[in-house]
Amino acid sequence: MTPSLTPEQRSIRRAVLEVCADFPGEYWRELDERQAYPSEFVRALTKGGWLAALIPERYGGAEMGILEASLIMEAINASGGNAAACHAQMYTMDVITRHGSQDQRRRYLPALASGQLRLQAFGVTEPTTGSDTTQLQTRARLQGDRYVVHGQKVFTSRVEHSDLMLLLVRTTPADEVAKKTDGISLLLVDLHEARGHGLEVRPLRTMLNHHTCEVFLDGLEVPAENLIGREGAGFRALLDGLNAERILIAAECIGDGDWFLKTGCRYARERVVFGRPIGQNQGIQLPLALAHAHVRAADLMRFHAATLYDSGRPCGAQANMAKLLAADASWEAANACLQTHGGFGFATDYDVERKFRETRLYQVAPVSTNLILTYLAERELGLPRSY
Ligand SMILES: Cc1cc2nc3c(=O)[nH]c(=O)nc-3n(C[C@H](O)[C@H](O)[C@H](O)COP(=O)(O)OP(=O)(O)OC[C@H]3O[C@@H](n4cnc5c(N)ncnc54)[C@H](O)[C@@H]3O)c2cc1C
Repeated sequence: MTPSLTPEQRSIRRAVLEVCADFPGEYWRELDERQAYPSEFVRALTKGGWLAALIPERYGGAEMGILEASLIMEAINASGGNAAACHAQMYTMDVITRHGSQDQRRRYLPALASGQLRLQAFGVTEPTTGSDTTQLQTRARLQGDRYVVHGQKVFTSRVEHSDLMLLLVRTTPADEVAKKTDGISLLLVDLHEARGHGLEVRPLRTMLNHHTCEVFLDGLEVPAENLIGREGAGFRALLDGLNAERILIAAECIGDGDWFLKTGCRYARERVVFGRPIGQNQGIQLPLALAHAHVRAADLMRFHAATLYDSGRPCGAQANMAKLLAADASWEAANACLQTHGGFGFATDYDVERKFRETRLYQVAPVSTNLILTYLAERELGLPRSY
């Protein structure tokens, strides 16, 4: 279904689907009910080396490109699972390999590749400033050899299931910098040392199983050596991570879209009402066919963005468009699938309602549709900045 995959890329997808086969719908359903973390699944992926896809070989990883990493995420969602359990490790990884110091790479990457450490938490969003990231209120001040951090994050996913967290902080007040993107820094926080010593975590239940939390920072001390990149240049490092994130999320949406279409079409063929399969009615087939066309088109944009990213070329607009189109296509496929199932679409045993909730998130997070559109209007169309 995907354009021009190499034999190696096909084998990546096949191998990940094999791992996923041991984690069927019942597994995810049961976790969803308990809002529990898929530890066994993440362990199996780590054991197979899949979460080390982006880590350079010299640090124990597979040194794949973002395209291959995106195929891994896509396969998980296409199998009926949810790659959100572990995707943060993928997109934070490029931030460390590209912007981390030699010491940081040597210290963390081999442990992340082997699964000894998990970097699954990324603290960006704050309760008061939301999408207006450059206005973030969390402050870090260098005192001696430590940054002292005060502030709050919200919706920080998987922080309770991670050893490390990337934390976005302001190190120079916004009114003292030339550009509002300056003066922002990235810190790598050791969560075991931090909890109870200036960092408190409070779970925040959401309509889907993302293990989101509020994080309170009150005098948290982070060693200065845990600064990623230069002080004040964290926003630019973050942007690299965000393009990777957009491409990976687009791939998850494509995986979701394919799952909804496969599941919807199977039901449409099997369910007989008024003496014939419901899939024989155009009212059922056409929405599925339209969603299929949109998923495939989004897939092309994912390939385009990933290819640009892997060749080191600018890909901000393409990564954002891939995420936008794929999130819309998967949501369209989700609606068509649910409608095809009638009442049974709402029955938890069919997994449709769970996947429906999961894929709905991507209209809002990690970046909302409106914010992508405003970015495209400004950067691609030359319209005045609206945000
Ligand atoms: C399940 C879940 C998991 C998450 N995980 C993480 C995580 O791990 N780490 C993390 O940092 N964050 C995480 N988030 C947060 C997520 O990235 C934010 O919710 C998202 O970026 C939107 O920010 P907000 O909720 O503050 O919305 P707001 O910024 O308050 O926006 C609210 C609405 O207004 C719209 N809006 C705002 N400004 C404009 C404008 N200028 N023009 C047009 N429309 C506008 C937005 O598009 C949105 O629809 C998660 C969220 C959820 C729900």
